[in-house]
Amino acid sequence: MILAARGLLLDPRTWIADGGLWIEGGSVRGVLRSRAAVRRARRGHAGRVLELGELVLTPGLIDAHAHLELGALLGRLPADAGFSAWIGALVRARQRLACGDFARAVRAGARALLATGTTAVGDIDASGACARLAPELGPRLVVYREILDAWDPARTGAALAGVRTRLRPRARVREGLSPHAPYTSSPALLRQAHALARRRSLALTIHWAETSAERAWLEYGTGPLAALLPSAPRRAGLALLDEAGLLTPRTSLVHGNDARPRELALLAKRGVTLVHCPGTHAYFGRARFPFTACRAAGIPLALGTDSLASNTALDLRREMALLRASHPRLAPEEVFTAATEGGARALSWPELGHLRPGAAADLVAWQLVARSRQAALEELTAGVPAVGRVFVGGRPWT
Ligand SMILES: [Zn+2]
Repeated sequence: MILAARGLLLDPRTWIADGGLWIEGGSVRGVLRSRAAVRRARRGHAGRVLELGELVLTPGLIDAHAHLELGALLGRLPADAGFSAWIGALVRARQRLACGDFARAVRAGARALLATGTTAVGDIDASGACARLAPELGPRLVVYREILDAWDPARTGAALAGVRTRLRPRARVREGLSPHAPYTSSPALLRQAHALARRRSLALTIHWAETSAERAWLEYGTGPLAALLPSAPRRAGLALLDEAGLLTPRTSLVHGNDARPRELALLAKRGVTLVHCPGTHAYFGRARFPFTACRAAGIPLALGTDSLASNTALDLRREMALLRASHPRLAPEEVFTAATEGGARALSWPELGHLRPGAAADLVAWQLVARSRQAALEELTAGVPAVGRVFVGGRPWT
């Protein structure tokens, strides 16, 4: 199939006016850099041409951090009592949800993402709903199976037993692993998670440094988490992750709001991607995320929607707009890079996040007025651009 459009943004740096893409076997086989090239390809391959008219083609957006199964908690958990109270309310609300609630939320979340231009998602799957439904969901998926033991050795074995059986690999679905966070995952669990991920070549994702409460317990044994957890290790969370071998380019860390400068330097050195969730950040009214400091340190950044328990929509367009609103001097190119190439890096899936030959044909055709790269980047990141068509693996989604 050949897709022809009046504008293509192959990646944040490359704009083609009036060209197309040659799609075969779910991948981008060639880039057609002019209308004449589209005509030649049509004759040469006798392929079907899908004219996208005034739409502009870009790679699909990538949501590097979601908890689709928590969709039923939209608007149910108050943010104003602080993060620890929110976590407590989340745990109680979760216990009242049934299998059907998780499944409905996963299906609805996947649809909401596709409808707003997101074609791939890294989803934290604690209930097993996402793994079970993955073959029927539209977006490309990394199903991060969540494990935690709350630093209780009696729970470590059971946590690992839950992920002993592999998920069946599929073209659009990959298995990933997510030890929840350093304050909920003991060093023994982290070490075994690392060994498992290595054996199965899994992408890893871990919540890290979301609030100062995490550091207060881990390093000093104080703060609101001290009442819920055993005696503290008196070590930094990042040091624990590093000692377990978990800081590699196949790992993404989520949040990092409470990072120290030398911790940012270590992340850069290890090639770890940091996932920022602007909607959750705004939900809790947190101090500005150090996006520019992370970039200056050389850390690859990605964006996530997080869950509807701490956000109001599963819409990466809104996350980009929130990021720009909180960082007015940030270039649109940086923001779009985080939402595409950064996401691909977070998911350890290099065929995603761009439309160069060899890329997965995960595309969005947008209704933009832009006629240049800069104008397209501005329009894609500043507001809520309208989605025309969405394709995953070259197949149209409706
Ligand atoms: Zn999360």
